[in-house]
Amino acid sequence: MSQTRRTKLELLLICPECGHEFTWTGDDFEDWIKCEKCGNQDEAWFFWHSLNPPAIVNDGFVKYELFSLGDHYTNDAPQLSPIRFVEQLLGRYSGPVHGGGPYLWIYRMWFPQPDNPNNGHIEYKVVMHEGLSGYAPWGDTLVPVQDSQVIKDRFEKIVKSLIVGVKAVRSLPKPKNLYP
Ligand SMILES: [Zn+2]
Repeated sequence: MSQTRRTKLELLLICPECGHEFTWTGDDFEDWIKCEKCGNQDEAWFFWHSLNPPAIVNDGFVKYELFSLGDHYTNDAPQLSPIRFVEQLLGRYSGPVHGGGPYLWIYRMWFPQPDNPNNGHIEYKVVMHEGLSGYAPWGDTLVPVQDSQVIKDRFEKIVKSLIVGVKAVRSLPKPKNLYP
């Protein structure tokens, strides 16, 4: 029995403005989302997101959860199986995608060994994929941004979102049955 591809994903979304977390179910990351707490509105992929329950990746030694915030994050994710979705979050997916731009990922890591002094300790590894875009659309092409204020504003927005995301992910409960 092969697993059918999802047409809908249940995602845990975290508002990049206020850190409010809520479950969203949809089939298109371009769906318009409004945070019920602070009123921030944007497309779904501009919210921190993870599979709900969070995607757990086992890297042999460490298990970790993945959260992502993207700029025009690939719209194909809802068509993927959970495994392929995780591959995409890890940048290992080679299937069809569209869009691009800076992605921010937070890994919340768990150390399972009972004799490990880090057992129960959480570390965060933050990855910025493709970096901060220095380009802006101009007609049908991209041109370098010449205005340093624009780049500064972009950077500050990403930093703010990152801080909100780290704080929100830190406060999330440990997933059940992570180490049965
Ligand atoms: Zn909010």
